[in-house]
Order: sequence, then C-alpha cells, then structure tokens
Amino acid sequence: MSFNVAIDGPAGAGKSTVARAVAKEMGLIYVDTGAMYRAMALFMLREGVDLKDSGKIVEKCVQADITIRYEDGIQVVYLNGENVNPYLRTEEVGEAASVTSPIPRVRENMVRLQKELAAHSDCVMDGRDIGTCVLPGAQLKIYLTAGSDVRAKRRYDELTAKGESCSLADIKADIEERDYRDIHREMSPLRQAEDAVLVDTSDMTQDEVINEVLKLCRQAKE
Ligand code: C5P
Repeated sequence: MSFNVAIDGPAGAGKSTVARAVAKEMGLIYVDTGAMYRAMALFMLREGVDLKDSGKIVEKCVQADITIRYEDGIQVVYLNGENVNPYLRTEEVGEAASVTSPIPRVRENMVRLQKELAAHSDCVMDGRDIGTCVLPGAQLKIYLTAGSDVRAKRRYDELTAKGESCSLADIKADIEERDYRDIHREMSPLRQAEDAVLVDTSDMTQDEVINEVLKLCRQAKE
C-alpha cells in the first residue's frame, strides 16, 4: 500500500512550497492538483470560452486531454500533448481555475487521475478536496491555513520581489473571492477533513511550517 499525505487549504497558505519541500525530504512525489485545474482553465481561456457559460465549459472540457508526468522529479502538466507548466502560475489562470473547477464534469477526470497516481506512488498531494474526497484513506491529512491578510501580504511580497507592481488591497480581495468560491461550491468544497491536523501558519516562518509537517509525516510513517 502506498504512503499518501494530503494537504488542503485556501489559496496562498503555502501548500505547494511546503508539499514540495516535504516530498523532497521524505522521498515522495509531489502531486500539485491545482496545476491540473489550472491547465483546464488555460484551455478554456485559449479557446475564448465565456467563463460564465458553464454549459459551454462542460461541452468543451472533453476536448482537453490533461495528463501529468514526472521529469527529473518535477511534475509536468501536458495539455493535449503540450507542456503547459510555464503558463499555469499566473493570477489570470488561477482566477479562471477557481471558476471552472466547481463544475462536476471538470472534476471527474482529474479526481480519477489523482486517485490512480496516489494508488501507485508514495506521494504528497495538495489541493482543496484531497483529504475529504480524493484520498479519504491518506495516512496523514493536513489542513494548512493562514489569515487572508497574511496570505495577501505574502503574495504581494512575492510579486513585488519579481518587480511586478500590484495593490495589496486588490490581492486581498482576489484571495477572499477565491476562498468564497472554493468554500461555497456544491461539489467537493474546501473544508478541513475531520481527521486532518490543522496547521495555522499565520505566525510561523516557512521553515517552521516545513519542520512541523515533516514531524507529522515521520510520526505517520512509524
Ligand atoms: O492551488 P491552486 O491555486 O493552484 O488552485 C487553483 C484553483 O483550482 C483553486 O482556486 C481551486 O478552485 C481549484 N482546485 C480545486 N481542487 C483542487 C485543487 C485546486 O478545485 N484539488
């Protein structure tokens, strides 16, 4: 049986940084499920689909073949055979993903793929519904969160460090809007699984969070 760690939480809580570091240290693969939903959103944006038209999204999503492969230990997302990793981490695509991901038809194939991956590999998987829906039997479940002020400030610092000009208030509003959509959708809403460990990172450094999650992983493996 494979060893699976599920990390869920809202946008900007630091899930991917923590999951990547923990996977490396523990020799597990890192499955970034947000990237899969982002690839679907990228497809819709490229096709010029009106994101308010869920009927059109349902009709179009069958044309998007999304697969993931591991190349030099890095997850690479393929959209109809093209490596789309370079296009996934923009605000536009993240925003679009939170609009297209609530649609059940969009989620079905993604969840199947994620379950298959976890059944065959020891992994850390992060997302919104991993502990509650994708891997209910995961040996360790973590709900990683932080206040929206803290998450917005971290995102703001990240963007300004890259030389991008942005407004802290706008980023906070975007984050809160995405939280709302992820929490209130009908299918697989974002919530803490009953057996998940809550890690609130508001007053923690990145290293402290990584060490805390590593400690929980080692305990779960014993
Ligand atoms: O985590 P990330 O910001 O990359 O996710 C982008 C969007 O994809 C989220 O806002 C959420 O709506 C959706 N998502 C999801 N289920 C997951 C992972 C991401 O619905 N397991």
